[in-house]
Amino acid sequence: MPTFPSLIVHGGAGNIPKEEHAGHLNGVRLAAELGWKLLLDGRPALDVVEQVVRLLEDDPTYDAGRGSHLNSAGHIELDALIMDGATLNSGAVAAVQCIGNPISLARLVMDKTRHSLLVGIGAQAFAEKMGFPRLAEENLLVGRELERWKAAQHDLSSDGHGTVGAVARDSAGNIAAATSTGGTLNKLSGRVGDSPLIGSGAYADNLSGGASATGVGESLMKIVISKTACDLMHAGLNAQEAAEKAVELLSSERVKGSGGLITVDSRGNTGFAYNTPCMSRAQVKDGQIVASV
Ligand code: ASP
Repeated sequence: MPTFPSLIVHGGAGNIPKEEHAGHLNGVRLAAELGWKLLLDGRPALDVVEQVVRLLEDDPTYDAGRGSHLNSAGHIELDALIMDGATLNSGAVAAVQCIGNPISLARLVMDKTRHSLLVGIGAQAFAEKMGFPRLAEENLLVGRELERWKAAQHDLSSDGHGTVGAVARDSAGNIAAATSTGGTLNKLSGRVGDSPLIGSGAYADNLSGGASATGVGESLMKIVISKTACDLMHAGLNAQEAAEKAVELLSSERVKGSGGLITVDSRGNTGFAYNTPCMSRAQVKDGQIVASV
């Protein structure tokens, strides 16, 4: 039975400086506009979340693709995950360098290999085989991030933000989720956070819902936040209630986590919650795009 589609996207949770709010709002709005058009054209949720995340990876505002944070060695290492709620298939890459759109590489891991996660040089060899252009690191680096990285060398409290994600339900009722990130600012080389890990960075199951998370990966992983939100939706909570409950668990004394997530439930409701000062996001409400930070 055809259903009305649903879409929500995010551009990361954290302490987003005031002067970056306009860029954040603009980017998530454009991404939601693109995703909504594709959904109304009848495109599958899986294609939609990939295309939406690609747009956000190309936007230097965000910590994903171009614009990503640098690690402690001064390099960019990218992580991404995509999941299909119809089949429960997923594809992910971690710690890949010199690639502009890791979400599309993750999609190819899902579609063209018998694996779910490729990392580092193996993922890069796969990218080459798939004809991905190998970019010079300067193509991904923006001046703002170089300045942030320099500051982080003496101010260990400096925090990052700007992971991107999308969750969609298409008119056939299929749900998909995708997340892409440059990780946390000044992370150790080789560090992998929640984003490319199934159930943590994202999850999708047509029978319950979909979620994409952002924030300090080490805390989000403790509660496998995206799968937790989907389990809550499976138990009957709507998308908003599940997002709020998941953030309540993240904020608990034991977890002391920091971040947020976006959700879509199997009935097509959207939701979001976060415990950070900001989380940029855009969702479609009654056919209108509503963006906030
Ligand atoms: N969750 C990402 C990570 O830990 C970072 C973020 O969302 O800001 O790699």
